[in-house]
Amino acid sequence: MKRNLVVQKFGGTSVKDAERIKAVAQRIAKTRESGKDVVVVVSAMAGETNRLLDLARQISENPNRREIDLLLSSGERVSCALLALALHELGCPAVALTGRQMGLLTDGSHTRARIKQIDGARARKILQENHVVVVAGFQGINEQGDVTTLGRGGSDTSAVALAVALDADLCEIYTDVSGVFTADPRLVPDARKLNQVSFEEMLEMASLGCKVLQIRSVEFARNFNMPLVVRSSYNDNPGTLIVKENENMEQPVVSAVTSDTDQSKITVSGVPDQPGIAAKIFSALATGNLSVDMIIQNVSEQKHTDISFTLPKSCVTEARAIMEELVPEIHAGKVSCAADISKISIVGAGMRSHPGVAAKMFETLSAEKINIMMISTSEIRISCIIEEQHTQRALESLHKAFRLELAESTETETNKAETARERKAAGS
Ligand code: ADP
Ligand code: ASP
Ligand code: MG
Repeated sequence: MKRNLVVQKFGGTSVKDAERIKAVAQRIAKTRESGKDVVVVVSAMAGETNRLLDLARQISENPNRREIDLLLSSGERVSCALLALALHELGCPAVALTGRQMGLLTDGSHTRARIKQIDGARARKILQENHVVVVAGFQGINEQGDVTTLGRGGSDTSAVALAVALDADLCEIYTDVSGVFTADPRLVPDARKLNQVSFEEMLEMASLGCKVLQIRSVEFARNFNMPLVVRSSYNDNPGTLIVKENENMEQPVVSAVTSDTDQSKITVSGVPDQPGIAAKIFSALATGNLSVDMIIQNVSEQKHTDISFTLPKSCVTEARAIMEELVPEIHAGKVSCAADISKISIVGAGMRSHPGVAAKMFETLSAEKINIMMISTSEIRISCIIEEQHTQRALESLHKAFRLELAESTETETNKAETARERKAAGS
């Protein structure tokens, strides 16, 4: 008979020191004792990935990405080995595996590799022997056998991909907050924990700055219908269930508000208003492997226009260089950049059937005298680019305007107290 299999992923703060690693081991051992098979995916200890990146930058301004991957992968090797040792101490048999030993094959795009295939044979064999499998998250190997990593926050994606490959019943993401909230609880103290979120909403939130889950992990979960639970490794609260949209879900018009300060805007001015010019600009960026987020083109005046687009701050130097090279060829004017912007968004499946949501968002920002520079929408989201300095005010006022602090549950107070306690425990 097939036993229930659960994949449990523990983020950096959950394994930040020996004490936390022991606490996590106890949780895993308890799950196993309840009769389930357990595969664990673990992140590097809190701060370790940043520490390694910082070391590399002290040595090289533009470090080679292949070597960076080898360097960063060491963080997760350490935590998975330590966690396996902690499980042994509890009498719980466990085997630690690196990405390579796990058989996690990716494409060759160093520092942002995509998973191509997972060979679950080794993990299945270990599970059959009634051992816990502890996998180093965030890493894999490419076809040449070189170590690759999956981008920041990539252990979430390792976990969901493993859950899919091993046909798990559930994938639990343990972190330092009690679940997915109506806003980042570190920025909006009134934020409320959501009991359920649909894949679509979570996908939007993850792409809009809610870093509790890496976006690719949500894509995997949605594509393979793998239920996810986001919960705290500091308590036993049930957390947030992320599943396919269903009729049992309450559908508030707006479920959450998010902010993303990792945004920059590039403007190419004096662009000739002719067919094919936008294609040239955006093909050049695509060739450079840069993905653009929002785009705005002004009304043409005397056959010339301005085109602005946004992209992550880390891409701006590359994008600017590409644009400056292109400007003479397309007979445009000049290229300018603004890094002090942020994207503020509201997300909610209920938006589909409720008119007037955009108007309310714009009115709220206008009442705060916050200027909107760009707008983009999808069926269940509205995003505005604003000046970075107004981010906090925009978040709080929108959270209030859409009454996100109030909801079905009386949990708000408990959540607030809990979040404060957890933050203290996580040392942040
Ligand atoms: P881990 O190290 O466990 O992977 P992360 O730091 O990557 O944890 O993600 C958890 C953090 O995500 C929380 O501490 C919280 O500040 C942040 N976060 C941002 N938006 C939200 C949200 N809407 N709900 C919950 N957490 C959020
Ligand atoms: N350690 C990696 C990071 O800090 C991956 C992860 O934690 O998910 O981004
Ligand atoms: Mg994370």
